[in-house]
Amino acid sequence: MEELEQQASKYDQADELKHFRQKYHIPADEQGREKIYFCGNSLGLQPKAVAAAVEKELENWRTKGVEGHFAEPKPWWTYHKQLKSTLAHIVGAKEHEVVAMNNLTTNLHLLMASFYQPTSSRYKIMIEGGAFPSDHYAVESQLRWHGFDPVQALVELQPRPNEEILRTADILQAIGQHADSLALVLLPGIQYYTGQFFDLKRITEVAQEAGANVGFDLAHAVGNVPMQLHHWNVDFAVWCSYKYLNSGPGNTGGAFVHERYADNAELPRLAGWWGHQEEDRFQMKPGFKPMYGVDGWQLSNANILPLAAQSVSLEIVAEAGVDRVRQKSLKLTGFLEECIHSIDPEGKYVTIITPSNPDERGAQLSLVFASGGRQFFEKLTQSGIIVDWREPSVIRVAPAPLYNTFTEVYHFSKILSEM
Ligand SMILES: *Cc1c(COP(=O)(O)O)cnc(C)c1O
Repeated sequence: MEELEQQASKYDQADELKHFRQKYHIPADEQGREKIYFCGNSLGLQPKAVAAAVEKELENWRTKGVEGHFAEPKPWWTYHKQLKSTLAHIVGAKEHEVVAMNNLTTNLHLLMASFYQPTSSRYKIMIEGGAFPSDHYAVESQLRWHGFDPVQALVELQPRPNEEILRTADILQAIGQHADSLALVLLPGIQYYTGQFFDLKRITEVAQEAGANVGFDLAHAVGNVPMQLHHWNVDFAVWCSYKYLNSGPGNTGGAFVHERYADNAELPRLAGWWGHQEEDRFQMKPGFKPMYGVDGWQLSNANILPLAAQSVSLEIVAEAGVDRVRQKSLKLTGFLEECIHSIDPEGKYVTIITPSNPDERGAQLSLVFASGGRQFFEKLTQSGIIVDWREPSVIRVAPAPLYNTFTEVYHFSKILSEM
């Protein structure tokens, strides 16, 4: 253990992102002792600059009232546009392909309204059997909405017996198998339970060759791993901003629609006034003309107070740069894995179900305990380490590169070694 401790301290000293931790509020106990927070996959921590940014908009509202909509330097009516360049950087897109709006599940429905256009022969949607419940509900309700029975129209991918993760080859093969009837492939960027990072590029290619549209739920991928949504030719994607993007509970989500649909006014969509072109939006006339790009999918005027928080959070991610965040993340999560293996080399107590190949995962490792998982979880909680527990026996540990340290990973491991 001593060796791991020294190693951790060496890595911390060499860490070129170490000063980013100071930009965040770290939760503490009643005595003011900082907790070790490994739950950034669920709710990221609050940047210290958030309060002032939100207060600034409260002040604008207090002092300007409705005139805040057009008051410089950050008029509310175009406020969401400030977030575009950082969002584009984070997901690998052009600015007109990304927008902060609504929440994840709402965006999923909106984009399925456009990109799930079933016919009597091509109507199936493919998801993972273990998909996050909201995605499952959204997809099943879309199928029923269009008059299809999920029993026939929902294709659920399952891992092979005694395996936890989906093999890329099996996903591609399943796409081929349903090629004639598949309308939409909807998969996560990173699977919330196993932490598996899917091969988005390859899946997109194969699904589109089969004639299907492809959408990704990036809830656990955005801000966690670099992506190239534009180059990968993904049709659409959605995300939330409160996990690795640290924007605060329930903050506004985001959406990506590929440039090739940017001025396709024929594509069916559910419209609202904020998606109508800016030039004559305030003339309040009938006749919807969508804005160029994903902005044409907006429904409502933007949620300014949440976006004030989000713009601060995104700026920090952009300042660090998604590639540097990823470089640290690979080391940090790799170190966590190394610690676990050195404590339990034969995997007697704990199995890591997340892929061992770093290219196939993000920050999170999902640990399954042969027994005593619940007690271990309680011991962690008593020791001030915040992770999450999923029935029946999984602990998800997600060291977030913007605020976690190697020494914190060491402390986690020390408790594991005392089990
Ligand atoms: C976190 C998460 C959600 C949350 O959806 P909201 O609409 O933001 O409440 C949905 N899907 C997945 C896969 C998630 O990880």
